[in-house]
Amino acid sequence: MDLEIRGKTALICAASRGFGKATALRLAAEGVKVAMCARGRETLDEAAGEAAVLAAGGARDVLARAVDVTDAGAMRNFVNETEQVLGPIDLLLVNAGGPPAGRFADLDSDQWDAAYRLNLASAVDLCRLVMPGMMERGWGRIVQVTSVSVKQPVENLMLSSVIRPAAHALARWLAVEAAPRGVTVNSVAPGFHTTSAVERLIARKMEDTGCTREDVIAGWTRDIPLGRLGDPDELAALIVFLMSGPAGYITGQCIASDGGWVKGTF
Ligand code: NAD
Repeated sequence: MDLEIRGKTALICAASRGFGKATALRLAAEGVKVAMCARGRETLDEAAGEAAVLAAGGARDVLARAVDVTDAGAMRNFVNETEQVLGPIDLLLVNAGGPPAGRFADLDSDQWDAAYRLNLASAVDLCRLVMPGMMERGWGRIVQVTSVSVKQPVENLMLSSVIRPAAHALARWLAVEAAPRGVTVNSVAPGFHTTSAVERLIARKMEDTGCTREDVIAGWTRDIPLGRLGDPDELAALIVFLMSGPAGYITGQCIASDGGWVKGTF
């Protein structure tokens, strides 16, 4: 299938590892110019090097900058530089690290504030910077990485289970505003995929429970009808499809990639 995105420009947040990196690599392989950011320089440069190998124009089609998505000024500069170097942004992946694990009694006000800034306010700021240009040009695709916690609270992940539904509500709202101007806005909701974020969750659970790594994974996969954790590239494939031309009639949705973990009907 022709995804109709060759030659377009994408801005991918949190792209040094995990879903962001997997999406940047898939887009580069589709002939998309990619601007990638993450907090740390070293792993980001490695990821950008991999993207340059796949990109049609090599390193000329890849821009990588160490930017924290919660720093609105730095994000504004990154968006401006991307548009100057690679062209107007057609595709946007709203993504960041996740909030810490914990239950109600474990979490203090600073952690609540930080989760709001990381997983909701940064998305508002970024859409404010990028969406108006897309609407003016009459075409755009925004995809936001959330979590299955949008659809069903996840044990011991209270911050994610409260903040992420609000983040999807933002996408749902923007989808309606942007639709008349050819811009779609969707969320993807990963279940358990083998990224470094999940490795950290496994380590935390091993520490809390004294279980082995295999026990922790077996505990999760018991609740996953497909019986395994996902590969980050399986979520990236969904993201890239939602960014494509043929996905133009899908907007305001939150689509899970979770091996069947969510138990609700919708
Ligand atoms: P990861 O740890 O593999 O990668 C996280 C990336 O985010 C890294 O590139 C890191 O540098 C970057 N990052 C973190 N904070 C940042 C910030 N403030 N500004 C810029 N970049 C930042 O994680 P991942 O699994 O790819 O997770 C991406 C998102 O998906 C997270 O919000 C995570 O909570 C969520 N999620 C992951 C899973 C899963 O199974 N992996 C499940 C549900 C939700």
